[in-house]
Amino acid sequence: MKNRPVYQEPVSVALRRYPQGDKTEITSTMRWVAVASLSLFLTLIVTSLLAGHYMEAFIASIGVIPILLSIQSLNKGAVTVPSTILAVTLILMITGLATLGKGIHDIGILGYPVILIVAGLILRGRIVMYLAFFIILCSGWLVFGDYLGWYHTEPVTPGDPQDFFVVSIIILIAGNSVYRLIKNVYQNLQQAEKEIERRESAETEREKLIHQLQLKNQELDRFAIRVSHDLKTPLITIAGFLGYLEKDVRSGNVERVEKDLTQINEAAKMMGKFVDELLDLSRVGRITNPPTHVAFDGIVQDALKAADGLLKAEQVQVEIDAIFPFVYVDRARIVQVMQNLIANAVKYMGNQSQPRIRIGFEELNGEHIFLVSDNGIGIATEHHEYIFGLFNKLDPKTDGTGIGLGLVKKIIEVHHGKIWVESEERNGSTFKFTLSHPPRING
Ligand code: ADP
Repeated sequence: MKNRPVYQEPVSVALRRYPQGDKTEITSTMRWVAVASLSLFLTLIVTSLLAGHYMEAFIASIGVIPILLSIQSLNKGAVTVPSTILAVTLILMITGLATLGKGIHDIGILGYPVILIVAGLILRGRIVMYLAFFIILCSGWLVFGDYLGWYHTEPVTPGDPQDFFVVSIIILIAGNSVYRLIKNVYQNLQQAEKEIERRESAETEREKLIHQLQLKNQELDRFAIRVSHDLKTPLITIAGFLGYLEKDVRSGNVERVEKDLTQINEAAKMMGKFVDELLDLSRVGRITNPPTHVAFDGIVQDALKAADGLLKAEQVQVEIDAIFPFVYVDRARIVQVMQNLIANAVKYMGNQSQPRIRIGFEELNGEHIFLVSDNGIGIATEHHEYIFGLFNKLDPKTDGTGIGLGLVKKIIEVHHGKIWVESEERNGSTFKFTLSHPPRING
């Protein structure tokens, strides 16, 4: 079909362009108009026959056939052709009956504007214009036919009770059909609005996802750069010391050879540790152990056992709170979190003469908070977020990979919890975290 500007289409058709625009309501309204007109004409035929007005009965009966045809066509789902046939038939009937009645003064010609209004909602602009022109012609016939004496009108009487009946029927048909069509227009508009809203929200969602993807890509770029850099550093060390080793072996300096080997060994170990931690990081959230209900005390004991050597070597005094709740977690991962936090607490003690660690639990507004506190070197406020970033270290000279807290954060997030640090420089640190309460963990 040729694409016309939307204003040239009938309202109902233009709205049907939108998704789910409903045609059935329009055909059913038109069917209703046709059936109402048919009953009107049948009543007219009967009343005219009873009153002995055979000519009127004849004209009304001519209209019955096209009305029946248009009802049949509407039943098949067509709209334009049956509606046009119906409009033309009604205009002709009205004109014929007015010719037999009071001419241009006949009350039946009220039907003209009604037909135009209903047709205006159903049919294309051009057909409506033709109908208007046809109505003008019929009015011309009624006026000039009478004026020139081509037909004779009944005298105009002050008030004919039958006219009240005709007017009421016309108004009822007009009112109901216009109401039903306008209702259809509004329903279509509503559906169109909903569809637009749905599309808009899908668009926003799409933009959000694109943005997230861009951030992830940037993160991945940074990650690749950091990984290649951190893997290269021990390799350069190894290559360097291999050169020294060769020289020292040739010169027979055993003491230096041992030193070179130690350096090479350290660098290789560092590289191995880095790769292990990276692998572990990539597994968090992807490979999970089934969550279990466990007493947090058990987790603390396991983590302390793993850090035992370190704690003894540094002579750290450990305080443990008396009461801990049950938690629903991937046990091995939460042990890993505690182990990391305890190891960091020992590692960043500085030159504290009485190193102390507290492992505790608090309940705040129904939320369970677990904590590892130390009296070590502390962290300046501006670094409180930074240290949880991957590879981020405050002192590049320390031997860590900078992965530990990033890994801890990821594990806590998988458990729908959050982690933060409360600390001041040179005044110890307290790492606190929550686990979702009530318990929840990605399966
Ligand atoms: P690393 O392998 O360097 O220990 P982490 O991710 O575990 O990496 O920690 C990141 C940085 O946060 C550390 O390099 C250190 O500067 C700081 N940090 C972590 N824990 C503590 C702590 N308990 N006290 C002071 N600083 C800490």
